[in-house]
Amino acid sequence: MFTKKISRRAMLAMTGALGAATLLPAGAAQAARSTGGAITLTAQEKSDLLFMREEEKLARDVYLTLFDVWGTPVFANISTSEQQHMDAILNLLILYKLPDPTVGKPIGVFVNTELQALYDALIARGKQSALDALLVGGVIEETDIEDLNQAIATSRLSNIDRVYSNLLNGSYNHLRAFASNIQALTGQPYVAQVLSDETVDSILGS
Ligand code: ZN
Ligand code: ZN
Repeated sequence: MFTKKISRRAMLAMTGALGAATLLPAGAAQAARSTGGAITLTAQEKSDLLFMREEEKLARDVYLTLFDVWGTPVFANISTSEQQHMDAILNLLILYKLPDPTVGKPIGVFVNTELQALYDALIARGKQSALDALLVGGVIEETDIEDLNQAIATSRLSNIDRVYSNLLNGSYNHLRAFASNIQALTGQPYVAQVLSDETVDSILGS
């Protein structure tokens, strides 16, 4: 990813203000960069991490709740994976000393009002039928994929991008699982609900 750090250095090198040798020594700033510890995140990078922590909680909480309602095994399997996604983001919140928005929040309760409204709407829909519940799974995974791609595009830091990319691969797998459950139930192929048809088709490999 193209970062400010690299572009500024490249510019200095081009103007001759920075000799080649000065690029090599690992100074304090460079050491801090490699550990990630002393980096100050931008406001957007911070809010993306807080949002993703709650968005993964939304996925986990919806799947736990819909498993209670329908007993469909896919919800139990994927809720375990969403807990791991929550944990991966928590590690970054700890690294960057950000307050965890999910502390003390029971299933179905969120700080972010947009996510709270989305949770409430998805649960209302998911309770209507076993098919609606699976379609809700598709909505969550497609939304997660869109938001993770946005966060990856915004973040300047490779350690954060790595975590987001792992979550993205998880979401691809989850979307495939919901799509195949829907196809088994209806006999019809999955139809994109949030992303473009082309994007979903490429994820599902059809
Ligand atoms: Zn996830
Ligand atoms: Zn997922």
